[in-house]
Parts: sequence; structure tokens; C-alpha cells
Amino acid sequence: MTRPPPLPAPIERVEVPAFFSPSHFGALRWCKLSVLGERSASALLPPSVYALTGTIVHHVRRELSEGHWRAGLPQEEACSLLLADITRQAEAQLAATAGTAAIVPLREAMGLRIWELRELRLRRWAARMVLQGKNGPVRPLGDLLAVPAGQGPYTPLIETGDEAWLVAPSLRLRGRADRIEQTVPSTLDIVDFKSGRLHDEEGQLLPDATLQVRLYALAAEAAGAGAVRLFLEGDDRHRVPWGGTERGETRALLETISEELPSGKALSARPLAEPGPRCRDCRLRPSCRRYLQWGPKAWMHPQLPGQEPPLDVWGTLERVVTGARGDTVELRDANGNLIIVDGVNPARGVGAMAAGEPVYFFELERTEDRRAHGRVAHPRNFHESPPDGGRRLRQARSLQVFRG
Ligand code: SF4
Repeated sequence: MTRPPPLPAPIERVEVPAFFSPSHFGALRWCKLSVLGERSASALLPPSVYALTGTIVHHVRRELSEGHWRAGLPQEEACSLLLADITRQAEAQLAATAGTAAIVPLREAMGLRIWELRELRLRRWAARMVLQGKNGPVRPLGDLLAVPAGQGPYTPLIETGDEAWLVAPSLRLRGRADRIEQTVPSTLDIVDFKSGRLHDEEGQLLPDATLQVRLYALAAEAAGAGAVRLFLEGDDRHRVPWGGTERGETRALLETISEELPSGKALSARPLAEPGPRCRDCRLRPSCRRYLQWGPKAWMHPQLPGQEPPLDVWGTLERVVTGARGDTVELRDANGNLIIVDGVNPARGVGAMAAGEPVYFFELERTEDRRAHGRVAHPRNFHESPPDGGRRLRQARSLQVFRG
């Protein structure tokens, strides 16, 4: 039986790019390695179902906006047909890769209710927009699993239309805004589409999304634009304030990060990593030394809901018992706790490992919910296949297993 693959080598050094991408800039404030390390990692965790769905919705909006659908169809119907088509393309890509095959079908991985809600919101958006079908061909979805190459123009540039380049070498900013349009003379409207929620718990526009469009504005102004208006678009368009105060704050932040990350410099990965709740969305976890040290410590104390570390666990293998529902794996974690991972697919090869070997599980599902006084404690029981057949518990569809 094939044993699980070895844990990817840790990222030791990263090279700082010449340009920053506004769409990833917000994460630089929390953990620089999460942005700079992707191209240095030998293996990445699969993208989350939410991130994949966001990419699909984004593509559907762009095709609808550009009229790539049959002119005779009502907008909402065209929207659902396009969504089904692009989802099929995405699922064909995901099914062809071992690490993502279990995410298919996406609507089941996400949960039918949440999927339907996303589709409903997309249809509502389509119904409200002034869209013109042109019978044009739908552009195919790009490679969902590719790491962005980070290439593009090097000279000052402002494009209009969809996926429009904004390049400001003097500020080290380069990115593609979802849409740039000139609806008022001498004024550019820069719009970024968001498929998820736009507001935080306090009702404020999400800080990272707001920062992203403000960086586009800085780039546009540096590249020669006159007046600029900024919008975030989910179900509706929301205006993002942009004036002297916002310009000053955004520029100061950009300058600070630019000084910390000089262009072309090779930096040690370790000081760039800042483990925290945001590690949950990070695909570098198996190759991030700081995360692997921090995870077990973080789980020693119950965490506030939403602040808990990812559902990963690792330690020394004690034994594997094969039953009707797959392998039951027992391991001892770094805190000395006995951890049980149930319903593991025997094809993962954990049964071929010897007791005493280190084993790592990323993206598990919890079998128990350990809450006390409003805080969440680290589960001791996890699963890949849910013991209740999926009635209440979810399948760990993105699970990745490694040996140490
Ligand atoms: S795992 Fe956490 S600490 Fe490591 S790069 Fe990702 S976000 Fe940063």
C-alpha cells in the first residue's frame, strides 16, 4: 500500500516582487508570508470551496457584463445557464486532480442552501443590471489551481472595461480591477465585484476590500487619471469614500509595507509569518514552520468562536484500526492528547505507516463540538467520513494527509 506523501519542505526564503497586487495587499498587514510564500511552496492545500465559488461567480458576472450570452434569453435565465456551464468547467478541472476531486460536486461541498442563496443573489444582480446579450462566445474559465504568475505590464497604465490593468511603477502597484468605466466625463469609476458579504459585523464595508479599491485609486491617480470614484459591488453597488484623508492613510500604509519589503530582496520566511486565526484561509500551512509550531500551543486554550485555529492535527501515530467505515487513526499530539481521526479512506495509506511515525492531517472535520462558557476547545475526535452518514456532520472533502 502506498504511504501518505511526505510533509512538504518548509519555506525558508522568499523573494519580494517588484509590484504589489492590490487584491492581496490586505493580507500583507496580517501575515506577509501568506502573500509572498505561495510561489516558494512545494505544495499548497486545495483552495477553499468558498474561494472557488467566488472565482466562478466572478467569471459569470464578467461574461454577463460583456454580453457573452444568447441575446434572446432573459437575464436571470442566462445567468443560471452561465453559472451551470462555468460550474461544469470548474468541476471538470477539480475532478481531474487528486487533492480536489472530493470537492465535486461543488454545490454539495458548499451545502445546497448556501449554494442556492449564492445563485439567487447572482440572479438578482443580473435582473437589476442593464445587460445586453450579444450571442458572443463564453470565455472558458482559467486554471483554478494555478498559482498566479504575478506578471503584467511594467509601465504606467490605466485601461477601461473588464479586468482592466492599473499599473503605477512609482508606487509598486499593479493589478487588474474587475471593471473600470467612464460614466461621467473626466471621472473613472473603479468597481470590484465581491461574491460573498461586503460588510463586517459592525456594518462597515470589509476593510481588505476597501483597501483594495483605494490602492487601485492611488495607482490610477499616479498613472494620470483625473477624478476617481470607487465602488464595491455585491448584490448592489456601494460607494467607497475616497478623499484626502483616505488617500493619505492608504499612501502611508503602502509606504510602510514598501520599506519593509524592498523590491527583489530575498528574505527569510520565518520573520514574515504571523500565525493567527487567518491561518484558516492559508494554503501554506503544511510548509509554514511558524504555523506548525503555533498550532498546538494555540489549541491549549479555548478560543472565541471565529478565532479558533484551523481544524488540523498532527502528532505521533499510535495505531490504525480498519473497520467498515474506513481507518480509525489514533495519534498523540504535541500537547500529549490522544486524538482519534475516524472514517479515513484506507487508500490514503495511513495503515501502511508504523507506530511512532509523525502523521499530519490538514482540513479535518470535527466529530465533537467542545464548547464551554462561549469558547471553543480543541476537538479530540475528528473524521474524514462522517459517522452519521452526513445527516448532521460534514465530510472532510479537502483533507490532506502527510507523513513526517
Ligand atoms: S500558515 Fe499562518 S503564519 Fe503561515 S503563512 Fe499562512 S497565515 Fe502566515
